[in-house]
Amino acid sequence: MTLALNIDTRAWRANIKSVQDSFPGLVPVAKGNGYGFSLEALAREAARMNEDCIAVGIAEEVAVVRAAGWSRDVVVLNPWRPFDAAATALLEEPGVITTVSRLEDLDALVRQYPRARVLVELRTSMNRHGLTLEEVAAVDTGTLGFEGWAIHLPPTGALAEAQTLASTGVAHQRGAVWVSHLDATHYAKLRTHLGGSTRMRIGTKLWMGDASTYSATGTVLDLHRVSRGTRFGYHNGKVTRDGWLAVVSGGTAHGIALAAPKKLKSLRDRVNATAEWALDEVGRQVSPFRIGKKKASFAEPPHMHASMLFLPGADPGVQVGDEVPVTCRMTTTTFDELRWN
Ligand SMILES: *Cc1c(COP(=O)(O)O)cnc(C)c1O
Repeated sequence: MTLALNIDTRAWRANIKSVQDSFPGLVPVAKGNGYGFSLEALAREAARMNEDCIAVGIAEEVAVVRAAGWSRDVVVLNPWRPFDAAATALLEEPGVITTVSRLEDLDALVRQYPRARVLVELRTSMNRHGLTLEEVAAVDTGTLGFEGWAIHLPPTGALAEAQTLASTGVAHQRGAVWVSHLDATHYAKLRTHLGGSTRMRIGTKLWMGDASTYSATGTVLDLHRVSRGTRFGYHNGKVTRDGWLAVVSGGTAHGIALAAPKKLKSLRDRVNATAEWALDEVGRQVSPFRIGKKKASFAEPPHMHASMLFLPGADPGVQVGDEVPVTCRMTTTTFDELRWN
């Protein structure tokens, strides 16, 4: 009864290898739902790639990659805050590198955890976290293990911005420069420009860079012939045409959701799009499940583990047990099963 991710492991690894070859100093990023592949699988893959360091998003994820067998360095990308107990508990672990993004936090670590290993984050045009260039002069890492400067660039990539920030940081205190989201050419230019050690954090391009190497499928669990007027579903709506109701694995627990309608005309439409709404006719919403050549329509909003689809006409085109392709957003989908083919 599963929503499955089918991976052509050899082809998937070929993409990983090509990214690894293009980015010397690569730091694989394994965070969140593991980009659909699971954190555990990505930790094992990073070990297989023989990398020296992996990046996770938050402190809680360190234990997950450790349990999967990762024994080398782990960088926590989200910056440390004094109220983050999980992150604080890692400050004395020799294999963990903590990101610091405010002067007051840096001062606190210098005083309270003088042996912590840290990256100091600089603010980019993303304006998320990090010290401004004006604050760099005040950076004093004391006895902390200074691992370098972290620069999280917007996904469009910005070489000039990276060069300015990196040069300012390195001029104040020598260290590696850790970046994200530069393409291979710009990364090579940055390396030449800086001359020092550089690290490149990559998740999306590394794990999801070749979408032809993995695909998601749901399984048809049930199929019912219905005629116009037949009642069905949680909302006890009526089928408006003769056809079939298909129950397919994959629901809200997996991250299968109703897509917002393309055009929200009235206030009522907007409310309907966000709340759980009763459908007044069958097949108003296109589902991510492909049956035959087309995406099938939802009969009603997805259930916890399955979705009800409406298939018009005499021939449903599928049988119970068939697997059907599903279009999933990898970073928001939890699969029941990973099939490493
Ligand atoms: C998530 C993240 C990355 C990786 O981003 P991708 O787009 O998945 O490659 C790099 N750096 C930081 C700070 C991040 O949070």
